[in-house]
Amino acid sequence: MSGIIQLLPDHVANQIAAGEVVQRPASVVKELVENAVDAKASEIKLVVKDAGKTLIQVIDNGVGMNVTDARLCFERHATSKIKHAEDLFALHTKGFRGEALASIAAVAHVEMKTKQDQQELGTHIIIEGSKFVSQEVAVVPKGTSFLVKNLFFNIPARRNFLKSDNIELKHIIDEFERVAMAHPSIHFIMISNGSEVFNLPSSNYRQRIVNIFGGKTNEKLVPVNEETEIVSVTGFVGKPEFSKKTRSEQFFFVNDRFIKSGFLHHAIMSAYEGLLRTNDQPSYFLFLQVPRHTIDINIHPTKTEIKFDDEQALYAILRSTIKHSLGMFNVVPALDFER
Ligand code: ADP
Ligand code: MG
Repeated sequence: MSGIIQLLPDHVANQIAAGEVVQRPASVVKELVENAVDAKASEIKLVVKDAGKTLIQVIDNGVGMNVTDARLCFERHATSKIKHAEDLFALHTKGFRGEALASIAAVAHVEMKTKQDQQELGTHIIIEGSKFVSQEVAVVPKGTSFLVKNLFFNIPARRNFLKSDNIELKHIIDEFERVAMAHPSIHFIMISNGSEVFNLPSSNYRQRIVNIFGGKTNEKLVPVNEETEIVSVTGFVGKPEFSKKTRSEQFFFVNDRFIKSGFLHHAIMSAYEGLLRTNDQPSYFLFLQVPRHTIDINIHPTKTEIKFDDEQALYAILRSTIKHSLGMFNVVPALDFER
């Protein structure tokens, strides 16, 4: 006797998964740019039209894919980045779920060109709503380019739910800046509706931050450097007198990945105790490296949350390191500079 349960066809499963991975154009940007970083590109170019609603293109000069992988990369759970469950606790790449490309291809028109360095010819694939439209051998440069058009063409509800171009572009820029900050040695370019938004040459953390947030940022950055067995911290905290009313310049990166953590934020704020006026928000750009096995990144598909083995120790180290850095720069208490 047959039951009523069915296995969902792949294109339906992909569309459901896409709901988690691809919320808006900025999610596509994040996934494609992270893939380019994982592909060891030294230059990554992002082109968007109409805040990504019409077109998103990411071009990299990374390792590229051979013809077999070029086809496979669009399958769900297809990844070159992990093989075993244990690998989840020793991640050295941004990706590992093997879901992004399958999800994006399920809800958009995607055109990919890719070639490995040693190959004469590359591969050109078109896939629309999980259906392969064409696959050809083609003359293409080394590396990979993804062109994503008509996002959510088959999910009108999602498409209608998108915000104005200004807001969607802001989300794209946020994602772009986060990856660019974490990887200052990579040359990043961003073009929106034909105009250059960013051209960030290969540099170091300080220069990258200044290139993104403007020349005035330089003077407010106090360097932070600490190395312990649990964590190594580098980066910058802002001098208190340059604090803002918003949290727009507060960034944590853990093992080169942007993360959100109310808990770590609290550690920073406690280091500034007595130095800020009420509601002031200090700037901080902190790059933490922790042993890979001491964190769990696999909590949410967008990977912006993370679980640490020893949060208490991390809190204490951050707090004291930042206090020390602020002290070294003779930062004066708020009461003094208010006079
Ligand atoms: P994940 O990044 O989690 O592995 P994706 O769906 O994002 O999953 O990508 C699937 C696979 O396609 C990757 O593991 C990688 O092998 C390949 N790939 C994706 N983007 C690129 C790129 N820009 N250059 C080279 N290979 C890529
Ligand atoms: Mg990926």
